[in-house]
Amino acid sequence: MPGFELFGDEERREVQQVLETGVLFRYGFDAARQGRWKARALEDEIKRLTGAAHCHVCSSGTAALAIALAACGIGAGDEVIVPPFTFIATIEAVLHAGAVPVFADIDDTLCLDPHAVERAIGSRTRAVLPVHMCGAMAHIDELQSLCDAHGLALIEDACQAFGATFRGRALGTFGRMGCFSFDAVKTITCGEGGAVVTDDTTFYKLADAYSDHGHDHVGTDRGREGHAILGTNYRISELNAAVGLAQVRKTGRILEVQRRHKRLLKKALAAVDGVTFRTLPDPEGDSATFLSFLLPDEDTARRAATRLAEAGVDGCFYWYDNNWHYLRKWDHLRGMQSAARLPQELLSGTPDYRRLVLAPSDALMGRTLSMLIKLTWTPEDLARRAQAMTAVLQDVTA
Ligand SMILES: *Cc1c(COP(=O)(O)O)cnc(C)c1O
Repeated sequence: MPGFELFGDEERREVQQVLETGVLFRYGFDAARQGRWKARALEDEIKRLTGAAHCHVCSSGTAALAIALAACGIGAGDEVIVPPFTFIATIEAVLHAGAVPVFADIDDTLCLDPHAVERAIGSRTRAVLPVHMCGAMAHIDELQSLCDAHGLALIEDACQAFGATFRGRALGTFGRMGCFSFDAVKTITCGEGGAVVTDDTTFYKLADAYSDHGHDHVGTDRGREGHAILGTNYRISELNAAVGLAQVRKTGRILEVQRRHKRLLKKALAAVDGVTFRTLPDPEGDSATFLSFLLPDEDTARRAATRLAEAGVDGCFYWYDNNWHYLRKWDHLRGMQSAARLPQELLSGTPDYRRLVLAPSDALMGRTLSMLIKLTWTPEDLARRAQAMTAVLQDVTA
């Protein structure tokens, strides 16, 4: 997921244009900015790319999640169904909304299992928040039907899946709202940035206002704008948006290279008995930022991770032992440790995360490794990598 591999003159030119006017703020200063609106232009590009009717860019993917939850009216005491395999930001966003994260198992897509979600629905459930992990999709059509049937808001965390599609339609556009991240290690990056997309004008207006202290952004005099709601500051700066604008135009090229590199490596690994792959509900739509593969058992997976690192195959993640992405190692969540005091209503309403065990998810994650697909690999790099990986994996599964 490395947009940073492609920084070049395009990014420099966009940033330079902002510095020339001196207008780093995304709103107002109409005369001084000489027609340069980077955040707006980035929103237009994202709308074109995803097919969403509306897009609002903001300061991060975490902010995008907070904005989407707020726009959907999710708050104190509401339950939101989440997966145990994600970046912790997903869970933090729910907690900071005053809502209760309720965990449901993942399936072999490595994303929320629709059956597990259905079992987790209770009288306080208000939303389902699937995460399209490692560049590819959940069974998003089934999750969408489930949310429709139960009257729940579907909010997609597509932070890791910008550019990915399911049956030709962009991930992030199946839910009431979809969230993207453009942080330093995502498919495209602008340093810090994110976006929410939606087809619904009402939710869009709420998102737009919430992220800028409730400003309704009607008219050209900022001092006289209406403020229908309270909000906060999740604005993106024009400098970050400028980098994002250059990057978003490279999305097609990034996807093409990632897919080609992934296809080659996957073919090599498929020849190893004992190696299987994550299920992709629509392989064509995979953004191919990662190659995720499964070993027969946890012990073999752990040995494979060690041996691959020793063989110089970098960029392989064994999430099960990593502190950031899987529930098993989230001791701070298990202890509900927050710098801010959490609302009483939340504490009384939360399940005891300390005792929470998700055996089906553990069984999958204990066997899974994911390798980051880089854009700058040469054909020789790819051949060497395929050979080294095949040798290690044949050996550990023998
Ligand atoms: C990166 C990421 C986020 C948060 O995005 P930031 O821009 O870093 O705040 C949220 N969810 C997932 C799944 C992510 O990978």
